[in-house]
Amino acid sequence: MSAQFIDQLRTSFRGELIEPADQRYEESRKVYNAMISRKPRLIAKCVDAADAITAVNFGRQQNLKVSIRGGGHNAGGLGICDDGLVIDLSQIKYVHIDPAAQTVRVGGGCTWADVDHATHAFGLAVPSGIISTTGVGGLTLGGGLGHLTRKCGLTIDNLLAADVILADGRFVVASATENSDLFWAIRGGGGNFGVVTSFLFKAHPVHTVCAGPMLWEIEHAADIMKWYREFIVNAPQEISGFFAFLTVPPGPPFPEALHFKKMCGIVWCYTGSLEEANKMLEPLRSFRRPAFEFFAPMPYPMLQGMFDGLYVPGLQWYWKADFLKELSDEAIALHIKHGAQLPTLHSTMHLYPINGAAHKAGSNDTAWSYRDALWSEVIVGVDPDPANKDRITAWARNYWEAVHPYGAGGGYVNFMMEGEGEDRIRATYRNNYARLAEIKAKYDPDNFFRVNQNIRPEARAKGSA
Ligand SMILES: Cc1cc2nc3c(=O)[nH]c(=O)nc-3n(C[C@H](O)[C@H](O)[C@H](O)COP(=O)(O)OP(=O)(O)OC[C@H]3O[C@@H](n4cnc5c(N)ncnc54)[C@H](O)[C@@H]3O)c2cc1C
Repeated sequence: MSAQFIDQLRTSFRGELIEPADQRYEESRKVYNAMISRKPRLIAKCVDAADAITAVNFGRQQNLKVSIRGGGHNAGGLGICDDGLVIDLSQIKYVHIDPAAQTVRVGGGCTWADVDHATHAFGLAVPSGIISTTGVGGLTLGGGLGHLTRKCGLTIDNLLAADVILADGRFVVASATENSDLFWAIRGGGGNFGVVTSFLFKAHPVHTVCAGPMLWEIEHAADIMKWYREFIVNAPQEISGFFAFLTVPPGPPFPEALHFKKMCGIVWCYTGSLEEANKMLEPLRSFRRPAFEFFAPMPYPMLQGMFDGLYVPGLQWYWKADFLKELSDEAIALHIKHGAQLPTLHSTMHLYPINGAAHKAGSNDTAWSYRDALWSEVIVGVDPDPANKDRITAWARNYWEAVHPYGAGGGYVNFMMEGEGEDRIRATYRNNYARLAEIKAKYDPDNFFRVNQNIRPEARAKGSA
C-alpha cells in the first residue's frame, strides 16, 4: 500500500486516515483487551456509510487484510489486524428513536451506553449484554446475551434490519423482506458478511428494573447452584439472573469484612415491581440468606453500567466458553473446585441463562444455532498486570478443560479468543454451518472479511440437499 494510494484515498474519504507515523496511531490501535497489540498499516475512521464503502473498495483493490472495528471490545481482538486496513466505525454514532413504532436506529459504531442513554429517556430499552461499553456491532452480529434475554430474546431476535456494505462495495439492506438470506446469516454469523453501518432494532418498554447482585460464601456454592438451576428454567420470563464466581472488590458498596473474599453470586434483573421481585426471591433468601445483597429498583442504564468501573479498558483478558444444556451435580463440583481458585481480583465465571423468550426462535430460524441450550458459560481470566497473563490464561484453560465434557459442544462466538480453530466454529453453528458457508460464498466469495470467527465460503454442490 503506497503513500500515493493513501493520498488518493484521502480525496474521497471524509473521516480520519491514521498511519503508523501519525501521533494518534498508538491510541487508535488500542483495543479493550490489552493482551492484544496489533499494528495495522492504516486505520480508516469512517464517519458515514460512504466512507465505509470507500474503505471496503480501497481494501479490495489494494488486496489488503481487513478488519472491522465496532466497539473494539472483542477479547480476541478481532476488530484490529496486523499490517492491514482497519475499517473503524467508532465515529458512526447516532441513535434515533421512533417512540410510536418503538424502534431504534443505531449507527454501526455505537456502544450500548449510547443506546441505553437515548432509549431510556423514552422508557424503552433494546436487549443487549451486561456491560455498557461493549460495541453494538460485534455483540449484535454474534447474537447478544444479557439481562433482558429471558424477557425479550437475544439481541438478534430484536433486529429488524441492517444496512450492510458487501465485499464488492455494494450497499444493501438486510431484513425479513430484503436479502433475507443475508439477514438470516448476520443474526449470529458475526462480521463475516459485510460492514454494518446501521442497525434497526425493536425496543421494549423497560425503564426501572429491580436488580443487582446477591452474594454467598463459597461454602454455599453447591446449594446455590442447585437452587439456581431449577429456579431459572422455570421462573417467569420477566426475571433474569446470571450466576458468578467472583472476588469481592475492595470498595463500596461492599462491607470491608468481605473485601477480597472469593464468593459466589447471582446478578438479578426483574422488570416488574419490587414487591413481586421480593416475593419471587423470598424462597432463596430463606433457603440461604445472602452474606450481602445490593438489590434495589434502579434505572435500567444503571444496571447496564454497574460493572463498567470494575472492567475498565486496558486489562489483560483471556476467556473460554461453552453452551450448556444441563448443569449436573458432577459439573457443579468441578465448577466449585476451579471457581474457588480464581487467580485474580477481576477473574470470574458467569453462567448466562438462555431460555424464556430466547427459546421462541428455533435452532435454524437464525444462524445462532444453540436455541436448545440453557446457559452460556464463560470462564474469564482478567488482570491489569501483563505479568499475570500466563497465570490467568492457564487458569481459564484448565477450568474449561475440566468442565468442557459437560458442555453441549459449541460455545458462544462472542466469548471466544482468536484462533480457537475451525472445528470449534463448526461445533458452534452445527447444521447451520453449511448454509452459512453457502451464503458467505454468495456475498463474500473471496473471504475478504476474514478477521472474525471465520466461516469459509463454500458453494453447495449442485444436486445436494
Ligand atoms: C467486558 C465485556 C463484556 C461483555 N459482555 C457481553 C454480554 O453481556 N453479552 C454478550 O453477548 N457479549 C458480551 N461480550 C462479548 C462481546 O459481544 C464481543 O466481544 C463483541 O465482539 C464485541 O463487539 P465490539 O463491536 O465491541 O467488538 P470489535 O472488537 O469492535 O469487533 C469484533 C468483531 O465484530 C465484528 N463487527 C463489529 N462491529 C461490526 C459492524 N458494525 N459490522 C460488521 N462487523 C462488525 C467484526 O467481525 C469484528 O472483528 C462482552 C465482552 C467484553 C469484553
